Amino acid sequence: MSSISVEVVIVGGGPIGLTTAIALASAGVETALVGKLARTPDNRTTALLASSVTALDTLGVWPHCRERAAPLRVMRIIDDTARLLRAPEVRFVASEIGLDAFGHNIENTHLLAALDARARALPALSLIEDEATAVTIEDSHVTIAFKQGKPVTARLAVGADGSKSICRRAAGIATNGVAYGQTALTFNLGHARAHQDCSTEFHTGGGPFTLVPLPRLRSSLVLVVTPAEAARIAALAASELAAEIERRSHSILGRIVPEAGRGVFPLAIETAQRFAVARIALVGEAAHVLPPIGAQGLNLGLRDAATIGELVVEARRQGGDVGAADLAGRYDAARRTDVASRTFAVDLLNRSLLSDFLPVQGLRGLGLYLLERIGPLRRAVMREGVAPAAARPRLMRGEAL
Ligand SMILES: Cc1cc2nc3c(=O)[nH]c(=O)nc-3n(C[C@H](O)[C@H](O)[C@H](O)COP(=O)(O)OP(=O)(O)OC[C@H]3O[C@@H](n4cnc5c(N)ncnc54)[C@H](O)[C@@H]3O)c2cc1C
Repeated sequence: MSSISVEVVIVGGGPIGLTTAIALASAGVETALVGKLARTPDNRTTALLASSVTALDTLGVWPHCRERAAPLRVMRIIDDTARLLRAPEVRFVASEIGLDAFGHNIENTHLLAALDARARALPALSLIEDEATAVTIEDSHVTIAFKQGKPVTARLAVGADGSKSICRRAAGIATNGVAYGQTALTFNLGHARAHQDCSTEFHTGGGPFTLVPLPRLRSSLVLVVTPAEAARIAALAASELAAEIERRSHSILGRIVPEAGRGVFPLAIETAQRFAVARIALVGEAAHVLPPIGAQGLNLGLRDAATIGELVVEARRQGGDVGAADLAGRYDAARRTDVASRTFAVDLLNRSLLSDFLPVQGLRGLGLYLLERIGPLRRAVMREGVAPAAARPRLMRGEAL
């Protein structure tokens, strides 16, 4: 059977695969995106940090999202652990660092629709709506095979195929990880009081419980609890669920009306031992899975997409081979610190909440106390959160590739 030949093939049509494909194709790289674009509904939302919004704007995606996203102007952390050593409430205000908003929260359905629309408008991008069944790496190229359709060959395959990545497996890359005994319950809700563009994170002994604004009188919720507690809460009738959430949120949003569609996600951390080898680069959850704490996962994935896009476009301009081992090495090095530091921070925060060890609780409380009291420290943490110093690819700075 003859094959389709492109410069880069991306496996996986989730948010990170789509973004990578758009980044490459909008710079004129002949790209194919392999993935099922007709998806099951995803009622989750994503808090996109300001630098991610800048990247999506630069790629022409944000104009399709803007009206459907809610700005996050204030973020507050409330210690709700009822422990001996509790921390003060900490408020981060975007205007303190000269920003209108830290970022925007958007329903995944709208984000994916915006990415789909942009992808379909790019002449250099071919969409192959199929499932890859095999990935074969050879010296000069890589081949993606399907059950029936023509195989695709490329200089480089980008694995954007999620946590069970077949690209990662084909490259022989192992992962390190840990499964927490916690589950995230998610759903969206309407409420009586205005959220005033403020997201609130309650730190509880079972894990964080976060309410994030959506446009108008709506918010999304991520509640981290034990698997048994998640199953109990997910099975509640709407009125009981509303009462449970009002109690847990101390009624800060007034009367609550849960919307249909509840998601349950077991929490885990998983990191690939390498993010690339010759002919294969991993992005998004194929490279790193993080629990939904502190809105890091998809933002990290967008920085992967921006980085591999930048390296490929640069290599191509210099007449180089975009799948060569040296580009893989540069991509791995460019992403290592950012992924490791975010993974460490999320893990530390989660473990400090779960710990019954008094000195650990004290240290967490002290950290939050210092953040609350010391303005320059708080502002440095905010700046780092919005635009990490270790990872500022061009798209995150608003520069086209
Ligand atoms: C409850 C929850 C809340 C979250 N909230 C946030 C947040 O606020 N902010 C944030 O930054 N992150 C958040 N995240 C993390 C974020 O959802 C993930 O980082 C993101 O979905 C990863 O996207 P991805 O494209 O890498 O992977 P996926 O979304 O898993 O996409 C992978 C795609 O690859 C396809 N695929 C797999 N195998 C093949 C194959 N063989 N052939 C073709 N296609 C294939 C799949 O069908 C899928 O479409 C949250 C996560 C959870 C669980």
